[in-house]
Amino acid sequence: MRHLFSAEGEQALAAAIGLRPLLAFDFDGTLAPIVARPGDARVSAAVAKGLERLGRTLPLAIVSGRRVDDIRGRLHFTPRYIVGNHGAESPLMPEANPPSLLDPMRDRLAKSATALVQAGVTVEDKGRSIALHYRLAPDRSRAHEVVDHLARTLDPGLSAFGGKLVMNFVAEGAPDKAEAVARLVEHSGAKVAVFLGDDVNDEPVFARAAPGWLTIKVGRDDRASRAMYCLDGPAEIEGLLERILDLVGDGIR
Ligand SMILES: [Mg+2]
Repeated sequence: MRHLFSAEGEQALAAAIGLRPLLAFDFDGTLAPIVARPGDARVSAAVAKGLERLGRTLPLAIVSGRRVDDIRGRLHFTPRYIVGNHGAESPLMPEANPPSLLDPMRDRLAKSATALVQAGVTVEDKGRSIALHYRLAPDRSRAHEVVDHLARTLDPGLSAFGGKLVMNFVAEGAPDKAEAVARLVEHSGAKVAVFLGDDVNDEPVFARAAPGWLTIKVGRDDRASRAMYCLDGPAEIEGLLERILDLVGDGIR
């Protein structure tokens, strides 16, 4: 995969920005570096400022696995759109996927509570999705076995997908990030999207990108990624925002 800051990538970026796209960003691992404790994740002041300025010119969205309220508290500005829970919590579909759909999973987790604690797995109930984190587990392969077993023996009406040292549970048929971004493009009146993400659950967006879209994978950890270009990591986001501000005629000089 080519780096976005190559001659070809810069050209693709200029072409996409020229189409006045929706700008959509994943949060963890994209805007904010991955940290051991998810509660510690933050965007830098420079990134927050760049996003706020871009949001005055282009429709801007954060599309995260976190709850919408959680994201809101981590930004120092209000973007036009925040989608949470991997696409399942969208301001465009406020009534969809009520949290009660995950009650069977809550019962199941309550019964497995001791095994989860022993394996060092942390349960994060986010309403419209539930995450089982094992980044801090003393034996990650053992912890993975425990969460993988839960994912393979799901109750009907539920579905599971992995991420970076996490397993996520949602209601079957809940919108994923690809569907959420497609709806935002339509709602915003933009014709295309520029989307950045770093993880497994961002791949559906990369795979379903329509002509004219620009997709960017943050990190080089997945050679099979369907994104068009990559950045080395979240540390390059500030430079990207400066380039986009230049392209829309709002450069910091
Ligand atoms: Mg991410």
